[in-house]
Amino acid sequence: MIDLLPTGLPAFKANLHTHSTFSDGALTPGELKAFYLSQGISVVAFTDHEMLHNHSELTEPGVFTALTGYELGFNDVLRLDKHGLPIVHLNLLARRPDLLTHVNFRPEWCWASSRAHREAARSNGIVRGRFADAATLNATIADAREVGFLVTLNHPAWSLIPESLLTALTGLWGFEIYNTSAHINGGSNDCGQLYDTALRTQPHLCCIAADDTHLKAPCGHPRCDRGRGWVTFFAPDIEYASVITALEQAHFYASNGPEITSLRIDGTFLRVTCSPVRSIYLRSSDRRVSSVLASPSGPLITEAALRIKNAMTGPLRLILTDEQGRQAWTNPIPWPYPAAAEPLPA
Ligand SMILES: [Zn+2]
Ligand SMILES: [Zn+2]
Repeated sequence: MIDLLPTGLPAFKANLHTHSTFSDGALTPGELKAFYLSQGISVVAFTDHEMLHNHSELTEPGVFTALTGYELGFNDVLRLDKHGLPIVHLNLLARRPDLLTHVNFRPEWCWASSRAHREAARSNGIVRGRFADAATLNATIADAREVGFLVTLNHPAWSLIPESLLTALTGLWGFEIYNTSAHINGGSNDCGQLYDTALRTQPHLCCIAADDTHLKAPCGHPRCDRGRGWVTFFAPDIEYASVITALEQAHFYASNGPEITSLRIDGTFLRVTCSPVRSIYLRSSDRRVSSVLASPSGPLITEAALRIKNAMTGPLRLILTDEQGRQAWTNPIPWPYPAAAEPLPA
């Protein structure tokens, strides 16, 4: 039996994509902290557009951790055609709170920041342009990793990312399978097929659900874009380094509702325990699939064993859907295991 999620460690929730009044978000970092704590989400990555800010003053040991990050936009081509061409957004998550070195930085691209912030910014000194092409993106991702960031591809469905570009990207750590803002504003929430496509060339790409918080709408309002997409990670505590280690080791799953309490390989079965769901799908990198479904009038599923069929090729992943249509998504599972398991690139 191989546990794919750590046992004996507490579970915590993190929102890894947040905008505050430091760019185009409606709420201050302090207001966001208060909201997320009220929802049981104790880790928030502040990822304002184009500029890094260290919000460590919000961190309270054992209560709340503010992660440092920012969102880079690649959209110069939009000047030619404002809405028909892809736009690529990357989130850069800093491995340590005081990492404030920008990559691919030019002050005039920091459209949402004050002049004082722009002038005070540090950068690695390499400017690569902001065209949404594979060469620019891959060079920027490589720079970001070298400086010390984990890089996530944001809201790929809303971005209209073509398959040719998606499969040409290298060095990403994460992929947003769910983005609350893209969902509530335009229904661009179906990223599963794009994720399966991306996994063919980047089989370790982690699966992220995140809010991309911008709005002020209160909790319970249909346009509230907070507390509706998160990752649940397993770690000894929520110290900054513990969070980053759990993320790098893929000790988490993504969700906008269901909980996964255990996930293990048992011979040729994947065993999962979870909050009540109506379906669990096992996807592979080919057409061999498997599922466990609740009957319409029967009890919901809280545990299941999904057979890994003969010759199924990895990576494998599970998708759980509850009665409200909310979902949880596992990270990719190398298969065969552990022969295909390689450590994440440092
Ligand atoms: Zn974005
Ligand atoms: Zn964003």
